[in-house]
Amino acid sequence: MNRVRADVKCEACGQEPRRNEQGRLVCECPAKQWCDKAPTAGSEEDRAILEHYGWQLVELPYDIYWVGPVANAILYLYEDNSWVGESAPKRFIHLGEYLEWYAKGLR
Ligand SMILES: [Zn+2]
Repeated sequence: MNRVRADVKCEACGQEPRRNEQGRLVCECPAKQWCDKAPTAGSEEDRAILEHYGWQLVELPYDIYWVGPVANAILYLYEDNSWVGESAPKRFIHLGEYLEWYAKGLR
């Protein structure tokens, strides 16, 4: 797994964009337009690793993302091999390192 964190954050409100119920990416700023990349479930390798660490895939009509084992973490994976996770500490760039750290915290 060599996914690298996408650098997405609103300069005005400091938030990473989230998908709303209409499927659009939004932050706190009503007028902000986010370039939309469709999230994916990830490759077979991604799925195997995430499931190994206890993450669950959530598939909705307008969204797809992974939820952590204690449900306080959400991850988005993209076709360009990037990832986004608002609850992941900023020091984690590589997804594999974050997953390992997160799993250790659960023990
Ligand atoms: Zn904003």
